[in-house]
Amino acid sequence: MVTAEDYEQYVGSGTVERVLRKARPLRDYHIVNVNSTYYGGGVAEILSSKILLMNSLGIKTGWRIIQGSPDFFSITKKMHNALQGDRINLSRRKREIYESVVYENAVRNHLDHDIVLIHDPQPLPLINHYRKRGPWIWRCHIDLTRPNRQLWSYLLSFIRKYDAVVLSLEEYARRIPRPQLFFLPAINPFSIKNRELSEEEINERLAHYSIPTDLPLVVQVSRFDRWKDPEGVIQAFKIARKQVGCTLVLLGNVASDDPEGTKIYESLMKYREERILILSHQDSALVNALQRRADVVLQKSLREGFGLTVTEAMWKGTPVIGGNAGGIRHQIEDGVNGFLVSSIEEAADRIVLLLRDRKLRETMGRRARETVAQKFLLIRLVEQYLDLFNSFEASYRLVGKPGR
Ligand code: UDP
Repeated sequence: MVTAEDYEQYVGSGTVERVLRKARPLRDYHIVNVNSTYYGGGVAEILSSKILLMNSLGIKTGWRIIQGSPDFFSITKKMHNALQGDRINLSRRKREIYESVVYENAVRNHLDHDIVLIHDPQPLPLINHYRKRGPWIWRCHIDLTRPNRQLWSYLLSFIRKYDAVVLSLEEYARRIPRPQLFFLPAINPFSIKNRELSEEEINERLAHYSIPTDLPLVVQVSRFDRWKDPEGVIQAFKIARKQVGCTLVLLGNVASDDPEGTKIYESLMKYREERILILSHQDSALVNALQRRADVVLQKSLREGFGLTVTEAMWKGTPVIGGNAGGIRHQIEDGVNGFLVSSIEEAADRIVLLLRDRKLRETMGRRARETVAQKFLLIRLVEQYLDLFNSFEASYRLVGKPGR
């Protein structure tokens, strides 16, 4: 299992010792995370690694997911979209389904932990159904630049009961009568998705899925979601290939809490051709191999709380062209360690530029890797959580932990 000490090679022994010291007062605390899927999407990706690292620090950290019917997840996906700026018809029926499914989950799950971390809007109303024994934190991973106002004021009735709110960026800050903190997400460099791979391993994975490597590879790895703009990626690729021969691979998945994904995937089928591969495989090693072998990775999102895929590719020294949106603006410094683009034409232009210039790819890729080493490795995120948990010591006498 990965431990804090494993990070020493990237962040130095001083950081690791500091993290171990901060974890000490929290030893034997019982903490739970609640979200709505074990699989698919960045939240599940972060939780699976973060929770193991917390446990390796001696903090008993668990993970529950809430269960829901398809209509529940259809409503929560609409909420997700509306928090990113879409319209929503927030009918009484929708609110009733949302609240009653969360209530059923509250009956099933006995949360008497020292600290409770609730992720995103799906489980948000859980807080109504427990007697708090310690702090409850709402961790929202969504781009909150322009949330739908009606939805926001409804959700605020739950949010205001939390002890703190954690968002990805300061620009997502809202007027909330609770403390707000800003933690940029991070990646686990030791996971199957991110660990080093030999050329043979990469070749083997690509060959396994019959991915041609005779021409440069342009890749986007994303949930099938319209905010990821898969159609825009295909259009940009079609413009770019008129100037440089290349192959596009769109690798995607559908999270279990996302009922829209299958439709998006099906709508892309008409674009399939010899040099446009649209794949859906549950294979982290394939993600790793593609991000490493790609000449250019795209993440042409129109909205993006934070793009883990951007960080994953940057870690592999691959230049990324990202949509000029949300968290991506904090991951990529335009023209330095990647490119930010605001249109299909701009994306096409940058693809051509990078494919024609190996030196540029190498320089940007090297800087990209350095950026991730400095700012986006999981140990930094874990340290921020430790600071937050320790800060509650002063205000909460946690049940069962007298005098700590
Ligand atoms: N992912 C994957 N397979 C796919 C598509 C995505 O494993 O076919 C992973 C991707 O590598 C990343 C996560 O899902 O770890 C997506 O996180 P991101 O923050 O980029 O976007 P989100 O889906 O949370 O909006």
